[in-house]
Amino acid sequence: MQTNLSERARSLPRAEEADEILRSCVHCGFCNATCPTYQLLGNELDGPRGRIYLIKQLLEGEPATEKTQQHLDRCLTCRNCETTCPSGVRYHALLDIGRAELEQRLERPMRERVLRRGLQHVVPRTNVFGALLAAGRAVRPLLPSALSEKIPAAQTPAKPRPAVRHTRRMLMLEGCVQPSLSPNTNAAAARVLDHLGISISIVHVPQAGCCGSTEYHLNAQQAGLERARRNIDAWWPAVEAGIEAIVQTASGCGAFVKEYGELLRDDPRYAAKAQRISELTRDLVEVLADEDLDGLQIKGQQRLAFHCPCTLQHAQKLGGSVERVLQRFGFSLTAVPDGHLCCGSAGTYSITQPELSKRLRDNKLAALESGQPDVIATANIGCQTHLGGAARTPVRHWIEIVEDALATASATRSRE
Ligand code: SF4
Ligand code: SF4
Repeated sequence: MQTNLSERARSLPRAEEADEILRSCVHCGFCNATCPTYQLLGNELDGPRGRIYLIKQLLEGEPATEKTQQHLDRCLTCRNCETTCPSGVRYHALLDIGRAELEQRLERPMRERVLRRGLQHVVPRTNVFGALLAAGRAVRPLLPSALSEKIPAAQTPAKPRPAVRHTRRMLMLEGCVQPSLSPNTNAAAARVLDHLGISISIVHVPQAGCCGSTEYHLNAQQAGLERARRNIDAWWPAVEAGIEAIVQTASGCGAFVKEYGELLRDDPRYAAKAQRISELTRDLVEVLADEDLDGLQIKGQQRLAFHCPCTLQHAQKLGGSVERVLQRFGFSLTAVPDGHLCCGSAGTYSITQPELSKRLRDNKLAALESGQPDVIATANIGCQTHLGGAARTPVRHWIEIVEDALATASATRSRE
């Protein structure tokens, strides 16, 4: 595609990158076929090709309009279009650039500004989020159903974590909302890894926690990058001490931390460290896939439907990995039609775009439940909470299901 960036756009820090991405799009439209919002709304401007065109117009000096903002806001950032695109267009990076520019040029209505600022301030702060969640649960019975169904029910409390006793050591991102919404997920991961001879080193640094993606994707991009720098500082002593990997149990965080190197490449103080952190970052399934799992003697009994988060399959390109690990443990997996489509969670999308999000969730649940599974398994706290919010088939992180089966196997062995 030919481009002619405006003088203002040419002065942006990522102007060259935007120009290169725009030029790589040949406008074929193949990507529309797998775009969830295009499928729901049938409007070219609610598909990737149309959005690329809107960003091109914006960067070529056309006026910033509410219409453009609406179509860009409706994008889930699911990156399904990138998986489909035969030309390798880096759509998500262009969207980041386009959204940031639009945010500079067009003020949002007061209601949206308040909502977005609230999300930026609450979601990444584990203690604030946890306190609000606890308060919400306390008054849940008094709330109208439209509000009460947005407050997730309490999940399995965290089991104890094993002591740090192995020479093989990894770090684990604690995350921001996961400790409150699904407190046992990281504990379950640590317990399974302990059985595989891997200890999780603990990093007690209050500033570290949220990966930064929530702020970054709400267009507070500098705040998101600042969080990335804080995590790098917090993890660096352990990196220098020789940890083997930084494990992520939430695929949304993993996808973002794997991008630290790319996002901070122009920061002279952090570029090299960020690159190293990204190289060390592994989704939990990547760690397990490389281990000898037979020794755990797990005999999975349940029928599972696996929902593969977009951040696992489209961003990290790890589609099918969790399914293979679950099958190695003996679980039977039900077929899930249209497994490539987003569930509608997409970070804070379920709050900023509730109607579209709910339609996507209903479609996804129908697909997941079509094989009548006992449990829906997934790999990202956002998807887990969003799908679980419908209060239909139970939804859990896959590692908790594996850890339950491991505890059963260990108990059976100790009785024999
Ligand atoms: S993003 Fe890729 S698939 Fe979509 S129109 Fe451009 S080149 Fe074609
Ligand atoms: S990221 Fe997802 S919602 Fe956005 S344009 Fe691509 S496929 Fe469509």
